[in-house]
Amino acid sequence: MTPGVRPLIAGNWKMHGLRADGLALARAVAKGGGGAELLVCPPFTLLREVATALEGCAAVAVGAQDCHAAAKGAHTGDVSAPMLRDAGARFVILGHSERRADHGEGDAAVLAKTEAAMAVGLVPIVCVGESEAERLAGEAEAVVTRQLDGSLPEGFAASGGVVAYEPVWAIGTGRTPTEADITAMHAAIRARLVARFGEAGAKLRILYGGSVKPANAAPILALENVDGALVGGASLVPADFLAIAAAAKAT
Ligand code: PEP
Repeated sequence: MTPGVRPLIAGNWKMHGLRADGLALARAVAKGGGGAELLVCPPFTLLREVATALEGCAAVAVGAQDCHAAAKGAHTGDVSAPMLRDAGARFVILGHSERRADHGEGDAAVLAKTEAAMAVGLVPIVCVGESEAERLAGEAEAVVTRQLDGSLPEGFAASGGVVAYEPVWAIGTGRTPTEADITAMHAAIRARLVARFGEAGAKLRILYGGSVKPANAAPILALENVDGALVGGASLVPADFLAIAAAAKAT
C-alpha cells in the first residue's frame, strides 16, 4: 500500500449478470464499508440500473468495462465514453487482457480509448500484464513497461488514472505470482509512472489483479505499491468481494 493513498477494490463482473442478480449483487456490495473505495463494473446492460440502485451510496462507485475511442458515430455495437458518463459511470476499465486478446486491442487503441475516457471525466483503469510465455522468457517487466508507455496518454496523472497490473496467466486460473514478483513489478510500474509524470506518479493507484480471493487478499494488499485490487470471479460473490475489501487497510 502506498502511504496516504486510499485503496481501491474494483469488481469486474465481465459478461455476467441479468437484471435481477446484478441488482442484488450491487445492493449487497453497498452494505459493505471500511476504508477502501469500492467499485463495481457491471456489463453495459446493467450500468444504468446499477448506478441508480447505488445513488446516494458514497462507498461504492460504478464503472464500465470498455469504451470506444470516438464520442459518437457509425460504430455498430460499441458504446462511447460520453454514453458511459450519461449512464452513471465514474470509472472505466481499459485494455483488459480479455479485450486485448478477444478484440485485438493494442496499446495505441487503449491509449485512444483512455484519452476519450479522460475527455469526459471518467477515471481510466488501464490494465497491463505479461503472458506466461513472456514471464518464462524473462520479459515480463519489458512487456509491462512497453504497455505502459504505449497505453498511458499525457494527462493520465491529472485524471487520477489507475493502473492495474494483471498477469494474463493469473486471471481466472487460481494462480498468482509470488509476493516478491508482485512487489518487483509494482515497483517497476511505480518507477515508470514517476519517470513519466513526476511527483503525481508517486500517488497514482496501482492495483493488482489475477485470482485475488479472500484467502490471499491480505498479504497481497499489504505489499508496497499495491493500492488495491481488480477482482474478477470473486467480485460476483458479495461476501468474497467484501472480505477482500476488508483486507485493504489504508496506511
Ligand atoms: C480480471 O478479470 O480482471 C480478474 C482479475 O479476474 P480473476 O479475479 O477472476 O482472476
